[in-house]
Amino acid sequence: MSDKLEKIVSLCKRRGFIFPGSEIYGGLRGTWDYGPLGAELKHNLKQSWWDSVVKSNENIFGIQAAILMNPKVWQSSGHTETFNDPLIECKVCHERVRSDQNEEKKHHEEWHKKRNENIDWTEPKKFNLLVEAKLGVVESEKSSVYLRGEITQGVHVNFKNIIDSMHPKIPFGIAQIGKAFRNEITPGNFTYRSREFEQMELQWYIKPDQQEWKRWFGYWKELRMKWYLSLGMDKDRIHFRKQDSEELAHYAREAWDIEYETPFGWRECEGIHDRSDWDLSRHSKFSGQDLSYFDPETKERFIPWVIETSGGVDRALLFFLLDAYCEEEDRVVLKLHPKLAPYKAAVFPLLKNKPELVSKAKEIYDSLRKEFSVVWDDRGNIGKRYYSQDEIGTPVCITVDFQTLEDGTVTIRDRDSMEQKRIIISDINGLLN
Ligand code: ATP
Repeated sequence: MSDKLEKIVSLCKRRGFIFPGSEIYGGLRGTWDYGPLGAELKHNLKQSWWDSVVKSNENIFGIQAAILMNPKVWQSSGHTETFNDPLIECKVCHERVRSDQNEEKKHHEEWHKKRNENIDWTEPKKFNLLVEAKLGVVESEKSSVYLRGEITQGVHVNFKNIIDSMHPKIPFGIAQIGKAFRNEITPGNFTYRSREFEQMELQWYIKPDQQEWKRWFGYWKELRMKWYLSLGMDKDRIHFRKQDSEELAHYAREAWDIEYETPFGWRECEGIHDRSDWDLSRHSKFSGQDLSYFDPETKERFIPWVIETSGGVDRALLFFLLDAYCEEEDRVVLKLHPKLAPYKAAVFPLLKNKPELVSKAKEIYDSLRKEFSVVWDDRGNIGKRYYSQDEIGTPVCITVDFQTLEDGTVTIRDRDSMEQKRIIISDINGLLN
């Protein structure tokens, strides 16, 4: 693991962002638990996505579909057959890796080389990524289901429900955020590749028309990239990469990945996919339901094409952390965008043994708490508190001191510039908004 990633992993554990899943039992590979700060950060990230996709665009409907679905869904969508990764096994130690992940292979080969061992791999075989579970109370009647491998299908199977209940005019979209599960062969690089993770997706339905496709594919590509940049991601570390035809998933006609430059190379954060009419046609055929759209203006009936934007919540969160992490001369600072930061501000009394300072600071803290996620800190000296807040990305520290009692002003200390200024208490809300 790279040095920077190791530092992030350690910071996340130490400061309550992310813990290894089931840790007291030795963990469960590919699972992670979000602690108090991680949960706030994740919430902020998802809220920002929802605001940018669902709220800021007309004709987008947000849903929350069930994770467990009728197994026929996954047969129809092609996942039981083609949602595979190529698996190879080391003949020496039986370790399994993905044959299309050269770094993993190389790393493993080097490990054996250091021990003077020659290594040989088995031929690649297809390994299905769907995670199976058993449902039902009576053992003999248990039936196999899949934990959803992507959140997408929950949207397409509700296409008819949305048409019938919301009467949308094409083009329109259905958006969703939720958990997905994949039996990844080699989970790793912290949360980057997990077996349980969250996705945030939009399925945008359009007329099956090349001009419409061109317009909307470009629109969503641009809007999604702008979202990352608007949250402060370094523009030199994020780019688009068009997938080669052999990389394309079974449902895709064209795909562009938004990639971020991590310490372990350029890695996918989100895909903008042309899914054509693949999903709706397959579900129409397999369910026997009519999943076409009737256009009241042109009186035409057709199966819409779909443009999908599919991002990983956990990956975006990790990439924002990597992007925000800075080591300065005598401090570590997470320069997270204020919209993402777990706490918007920290409130301190200058001295914790002065009741008049403590009660004034508490008063400010209690009033801010109603509107913002803020934190109280009275441990150690003021310098230590600043550095402690810098490390978790709190954009502003508010200190109540003796002058506060005289003139109703507080000291505001900015995380990035470390500059301090005095403002009146009634201006704090404006500053945090
Ligand atoms: P990869 O090539 O990295 O396996 P993918 O192309 O299979 O990813 P998609 O099926 O397009 O990924 O899923 C959309 C998004 O979901 C990805 O861009 C990524 O952010 C996220 N994602 C996919 N698999 C994982 C995983 N195992 N762990 C965390 N996030 C994931």
